[in-house]
Amino acid sequence: MNKKSETARGEVAGMGTQVVWAGEQDGHPYNATQTPIVVSAAYGYQDVDHWYEVALGQREGYIYSRMSNPTVATLEAKLCELEGAESAVAFSSGMAAISAVLHTFLCQGKRVVSTRDSYGGTNKIFEEFLPRMGVDVVLCDTLDTEAIEAEIARGCDLLYLETPTNPTLKVLDVRRLVAAAKRVGALVVADNTFATPLNQNPLALGVDLVVHSATKFLSGHGDALGGIACGAESLMASVRHYREINGAALDAFSAFLIIRGIKTLALRLRQQQRSAQALAEYLLTEPLVEAVNYPGLPSHPGHAIARGQMRGFGAIVSFVLRGGMDTVVRLLPRLRYAHRAGNLGAVETIYGPARTTSHVENTLEERLALGISEGLVRVSVGIEETEDLLADLKQAFACVHEELSCSSPVHSLPSLTECRTEVEI
Ligand SMILES: *Cc1c(COP(=O)(O)O)cnc(C)c1O
Repeated sequence: MNKKSETARGEVAGMGTQVVWAGEQDGHPYNATQTPIVVSAAYGYQDVDHWYEVALGQREGYIYSRMSNPTVATLEAKLCELEGAESAVAFSSGMAAISAVLHTFLCQGKRVVSTRDSYGGTNKIFEEFLPRMGVDVVLCDTLDTEAIEAEIARGCDLLYLETPTNPTLKVLDVRRLVAAAKRVGALVVADNTFATPLNQNPLALGVDLVVHSATKFLSGHGDALGGIACGAESLMASVRHYREINGAALDAFSAFLIIRGIKTLALRLRQQQRSAQALAEYLLTEPLVEAVNYPGLPSHPGHAIARGQMRGFGAIVSFVLRGGMDTVVRLLPRLRYAHRAGNLGAVETIYGPARTTSHVENTLEERLALGISEGLVRVSVGIEETEDLLADLKQAFACVHEELSCSSPVHSLPSLTECRTEVEI
């Protein structure tokens, strides 16, 4: 998180400074220091010629908030600086941003290459909606880089990447896959939601377009939905046109909440990552845990690649519990400092099984085909004190161990159901 780059104010600043000042403008009405929430649907002009010039894009100004809005524009300017992008367009949700980008650049006869592990909603677009339009979709084994390269070489109009992945935290080699895409002239899109612009800038790694669910770390407080796409203006002009016509614009109030959230992103992430590393290391020692996924662990298969393309390892950890769902329903209710919910990236710690969070859209068979075990739990580590989060997880595991002590050693968990009567959920 030590990247320094130029802000709109022309100085070279660290990311913690940039998140505060990037995109912020002076000269607000009443000398307000904060970006006003402009809730007007339309903007009026006494001078009809002036109005017409704005409508034609020949003069700065606003016409109608589906096209552009001053509060939303400030958020877009902020994201441009944080991602090093020329242009950004905000949407009503992360899925709206992803869907808009895919629909802007794909049509019948095009071929898209991506990986099996992607956000559940994105996966549905690939499996359900794009094939319906006659788009050829190829989803490769996420960690088989050679297979992805081979599919790209076979013909590819758009390569779609998500790294680290949700919820298994697999890390893709962005530079290597971008190189393969460039050889065939494919456009590369990357979902940077998990890493955030503080930890990873896909555009600097050669990606063409970056998408974010602003609902997560950018907003940071679990109280707003939003999405953003950014990249070169030559590409973003088409994405903006798609939003203007298809209509999934972000509202001014959510834009304000996301702007406010971004200002503390560096502070939040610093604390969250520290705790994530500590929780991941503890989980490695817990006998009820079969596997721990966190790119910050030296044992993580993508650790070296993550070090080469990320500035921090993020605040999401996932782990697989022995005994599957049976153990999940014992553990989660025991946690004191946790929401059990389908969100991530908020100030509170959030625990959720994949089947009710990232992959709620998928059937059991689909999840198993994606390698998502029923015992997989995702933790979005919050800003609470590291020691409290560790103690909480330890006491929750202690409770489960105690419940299970009526049966023999934890490694023979198939008999778990015998203990079930003792569980209060
Ligand atoms: C949540 C999420 C999305 C979808 O964003 P919404 O704001 O919920 O529409 C897309 N990608 C990733 C990685 C996500 O975590």
